[in-house]
Amino acid sequence: MSRKIEKIKLALEKNLCQLRNITKINSDRRECPLCGWKGFSFLPHGYGITYRKDALCPQCHSLERHRAMKKMDLTSLTLPDSSQTLIFCSHVLEHIPNDIMAMKEMFRVLKPKGVSIIQVPIWREKSYEDFSITSKKKKLEIFFNQDHVRLYGLDIVERLESVGFSVFIKTIDSFSDDTIKKYSLSFQSTKEVFFCYKSK
Ligand SMILES: [Zn+2]
Repeated sequence: MSRKIEKIKLALEKNLCQLRNITKINSDRRECPLCGWKGFSFLPHGYGITYRKDALCPQCHSLERHRAMKKMDLTSLTLPDSSQTLIFCSHVLEHIPNDIMAMKEMFRVLKPKGVSIIQVPIWREKSYEDFSITSKKKKLEIFFNQDHVRLYGLDIVERLESVGFSVFIKTIDSFSDDTIKKYSLSFQSTKEVFFCYKSK
């Protein structure tokens, strides 16, 4: 079957599957652990040998490999103390009102000498937050994203240190001009990576 026909077939099957999900509206035969969607069937996905039914979440577009990961609340991790060697936390903290609690939890579950590699958008020197801003429109205007709760400044380091981390910052300025150009890394708000060590 040509790829074009396969694409048309897949699109039709997806629509049929969506219809089935609508008509069997109270069905919770399937559930997405990532976004909470419930329905009769996930959508078909893939071409040729990778084609399968019941694969793609209609709401968050997760696949099997995403749903196989455990979803946790970063402010209340279901992990034992001093159990992890490495945490990678990229563009999450700016969504969390109680970011200090999230930092405390990452510190708690890290083994001594473990590291949490953290990225957040940095827009300014001093962080700005105002939890009275709740409308998506206003958040977009003030925080540049409707799901963000603050604009971080470089003083995020003080927050990270306050829970016990030793923080080392790597910035893209340590890369060559060629590398920065080639990978297009010069976006103002994403120049820093914070390496947060649990030194004891
Ligand atoms: Zn989902």
